[in-house]
Amino acid sequence: MLKKLHRSSYHLQRVLELRTPIQFVKGVGPRIAEWLGQKNISTVEDLLYYLPFRYENRLNPRGIGELRPGEMATVIAEVRNSAVFRTKKGMPIFELVAGQGRSTLKCIWFHGEYLRDRFKPGQLVALYGKVEEGWKGRGLQIQQPQFELLDGSAEGEDQPDLENTKEFESLEVGRIVPIYESAASGKLTSRWFRRTVYGALQNLAAEIPDGLPPVLCRRLDLLDRRTAFQHVHFAPEEESFQALENTATPAHRRLIFEELFFLEVGLELKRRKLRARPGIAFALTESVRQAVKKILPFHPTAAQKRVLREIAEDMQHPSPMRRLLQGDVGSGKTIVALQAAVIAMENGYQVAFMAPTEILATQHYLSARHALEEAGYRVVLLTGSLEEDRKRNTRRHIAHGDVHLVIGTHALIQEKVGFQNLGLVIVDEQHRFGVMQRFKLMKKGEAEPDTLVMTATPIPRTLALTLYGDLDTSVLDELPPGRTPITTRTVSDQRAAEVWDFVRKQVKAGRQAYVVYPVIEGAPAEQQEMEFGGEPAGSRSKTGLKAALHMFEELRSRIFPDLHVGLLHGRLDPEKKDETMRQFKAGEIDVLVSTTVIEVGVDVPNATVMVIEHAERFGLSQLHQLRGRIGRGAAKSYCVLMTGGKISQEGERRLKEMVRTQNGFEIAELDLQLRGPGEFFGTKQAGMPGFRVANIFRDRSLLELAKAEAVKLVHETDPQITMDDRHRVMSHLRQHWQRRYGLVEVG
Ligand code: ADP
Ligand code: MG
Repeated sequence: MLKKLHRSSYHLQRVLELRTPIQFVKGVGPRIAEWLGQKNISTVEDLLYYLPFRYENRLNPRGIGELRPGEMATVIAEVRNSAVFRTKKGMPIFELVAGQGRSTLKCIWFHGEYLRDRFKPGQLVALYGKVEEGWKGRGLQIQQPQFELLDGSAEGEDQPDLENTKEFESLEVGRIVPIYESAASGKLTSRWFRRTVYGALQNLAAEIPDGLPPVLCRRLDLLDRRTAFQHVHFAPEEESFQALENTATPAHRRLIFEELFFLEVGLELKRRKLRARPGIAFALTESVRQAVKKILPFHPTAAQKRVLREIAEDMQHPSPMRRLLQGDVGSGKTIVALQAAVIAMENGYQVAFMAPTEILATQHYLSARHALEEAGYRVVLLTGSLEEDRKRNTRRHIAHGDVHLVIGTHALIQEKVGFQNLGLVIVDEQHRFGVMQRFKLMKKGEAEPDTLVMTATPIPRTLALTLYGDLDTSVLDELPPGRTPITTRTVSDQRAAEVWDFVRKQVKAGRQAYVVYPVIEGAPAEQQEMEFGGEPAGSRSKTGLKAALHMFEELRSRIFPDLHVGLLHGRLDPEKKDETMRQFKAGEIDVLVSTTVIEVGVDVPNATVMVIEHAERFGLSQLHQLRGRIGRGAAKSYCVLMTGGKISQEGERRLKEMVRTQNGFEIAELDLQLRGPGEFFGTKQAGMPGFRVANIFRDRSLLELAKAEAVKLVHETDPQITMDDRHRVMSHLRQHWQRRYGLVEVG
């Protein structure tokens, strides 16, 4: 079929290159070009990447007479008549009768009034759907079929004329038909795209730039690029329909691989380039080793030892370290980071430790002082709430080099501090910082300090490859000993009284509790506390939620008048926050009422109860982080997920998963699946590379393959890949990264 088409149609048309602006494509005038621009389609290549979102098998259109109830079928028939009826209850039903000779087929659409004027008698229509027995034995019918008018009744303006009806018909019928999302509020229909893409493919130059080395394509059995474009739109007859539906045809595979490959090559080049920069080679002498051991307040876990070894190796290497330390909540990342700090400080360098919130910075400061000051290191805290004088003074000390370790919030340290000789940067809980942002922030400098990024949001491997492909990864996959698993329950807030009784019992037994609310008062807490990393959990009404301020009063005066109840939220002034945290740590507060400010990092091992009200409102990762605040000591811990009001199906699912598992990696995977990568990482700030074809969930195995091939290419460890091949990849890569990610400098 395809071959015949190629022969039968010859347009006197300019040859199109991939870069050719879209208005040179047949059927695209200035106005349509503008509409397409809104879909980010401005070149022929962009158009070719506008992929069908599904396909319809119209290879074998059926005769109406041979249809059987229960089957899915495509029928090409003539419009006979159509009308709108109303049921007794007033529901409008649109009915279409289509025929082939004497046979007729009825199609109905519920609430189908909008179709009233769409069909004109005599038009040819393709119908696709499930064949059913009609009412009261009145022949066969299809309910809500997919349909397409096959006659050239133009729906958009600027529609190209059909010079060749045969060709047109054969795009619609007797083949696997690509279905596109319509654009420009429906003015550019699926059929319009089908014809336009078809025309573009016909006039596309015989040779188009293909960045993949042919030898790689042969070895991995990848189609050439031109054929891939052709087949992804107009599948060959023999294509497996299943594969088409799963986006897993050879054509898809080729385009997906290419997209992932160029991302991974770019990341690998970044990584290599970074490694080639001058860095610091820290010495790990016996006395340094001793100093590192000395600060340990407990026996490290095997995982902690292994990870420290990995970090120490990087630090000894003269190139700058870029390491991601992943560890579930409570896995003990802090002490490992402090040990790394000791290596740097013993070598005479300064260390910056950045935390996402003041509470956390303060907490790190307290534990760092505890661990380090006795050994003679000078540790300072630098947060926004310090008095100007004090900040200025602290900065002066840092600049003079009389301070060894500076702990503060990201913004403060990044923007305002001039170190004398910064050797190591530790970035805590920075999971909202994607790869593209990191590249943009990289400064040109002399000796780069080493960087250790710590994240408590476990990142599924596929995402880690994409987002942190430029970093080496260490994983703390073992919890310190003596932890008992946390018991998690969901309870309706109708039974709140029982929950409060339970909290009281725990407090009487010497423990402490958190009670978390989604909002401070009326409005969503997330908006008020962005800096603390609230992740919106779906739609959120502004009313009807129990709020921290109100419940604090309630709990303090009515429910726990006999206990010490504290309050913590993002709008308190910083001294008040610090003081409250200190009191809670010291056991002077029994029940801490809070918002998501405590989501990350807060460490009070004696707290064994976490009550989360409106738990249905929180995202999975957020719930996991919150639950991670307990179960940090040896005593048994309890997480109570209280629900109030309506719960969506997805909310229901999240709660179930929380009860079922405590594995952070599993929860992260699920969260990612439920919300998608954008939401998972906090949408725009995430710096997620945008994909046109690939989907890192669906295409995990191709991602792994692309990664492996990218590494081989960059490090020249593949004897089959020649210099020419590499040049080809590099020149393609530069354009690709510039266009896709807006970065000029790669590799
Ligand atoms: P996270 O990885 O969530 O940042 P932390 O570093 O805050 O975890 O550690 C959690 C708790 O476990 C802290 O109270 C810490 O002192 C304790 N801890 C860490 N490592 C060990 C260990 N090897 N043995 C006993 N307790 C440990
Ligand atoms: Mg931590």
